[in-house]
Amino acid sequence: MVLRTVLDLRQFARTQHTAGKTIGLVPTMGALHEGHASLIRAARQRCDVVVVTIFVNPTQFGPQEDFARYPRTFEADCALARREGADAVFAPTVEEMYPAGATTFVEAEGLSGRLDGASRPGHFRGVATVVTKLLIAAEADRAYFGQKDAAQVAVLRRMATDLRIGTEIVVCPIVREADGLALSSRNQYLSPAERAEAVQIYQTLQQMRDLIAKGHARRVVEQAAASKLERAGFVLDYAAIRRAEDLSEPADNEQEGLVALIAARLGSTRLIDNLLFD
Ligand code: AMP
Repeated sequence: MVLRTVLDLRQFARTQHTAGKTIGLVPTMGALHEGHASLIRAARQRCDVVVVTIFVNPTQFGPQEDFARYPRTFEADCALARREGADAVFAPTVEEMYPAGATTFVEAEGLSGRLDGASRPGHFRGVATVVTKLLIAAEADRAYFGQKDAAQVAVLRRMATDLRIGTEIVVCPIVREADGLALSSRNQYLSPAERAEAVQIYQTLQQMRDLIAKGHARRVVEQAAASKLERAGFVLDYAAIRRAEDLSEPADNEQEGLVALIAARLGSTRLIDNLLFD
């Protein structure tokens, strides 16, 4: 079943809740792959009803970013969602999510300026705003997100706590290709040569983890990772070690709850990945 309007989604959700069913929401921008499938399966396991949303959200893209060329593969997405057991797909228009004259936004101050928020101004404000709208409209009991977008997870947890939204935020592990590259809808932009290079991001994350475990200083490890990737032709947004919870900078001897994160461009493709240390 494909739902197109917020009203349709709300009515669908009310009907399910009236019947005593729990609703799991899987927000996506489409171009679905095995990473998204893993979220749908996780929702399927714990929720009575699973709704996948497909919406390329304009407010989370900067003016020079890939909104217009972002892959749109709606029929294949619906087939994948159905195959993985989703009960409904919510695919609204931009006008449906942002009614004429919309001026209301959600922002996790401080957090939303860190890492991707610094290199993509306004990005997390767009993400938090659209996810808030989706959680409210779908009356979701649980919403499923990938650890792939670690900063996004931190922002959305903060947002759900601060706004007292009752939805449980569930985070699922990163799904990777055989060589370690994190699955991403943007991987299809990579040329064969770039695809071969791209695995270095994951390899560098592993090296960062190992060096920290051996007691090397965080800033030195971050700098070495950035230099290595730059020498290999990447343009770095960041190579950082942070507290996973809120992306703040850990103290010098801190070892618990850390995550290494990299965002880098290869040609015109921006890739992100991260590795939790525990
Ligand atoms: P997107 O369509 O890129 O906005 O992603 C939708 C959701 O799928 C987000 O919660 C992502 O973190 C998650 N996701 C994307 N790629 C992966 C992956 N390789 N493994 C796990 N989750 C992923």
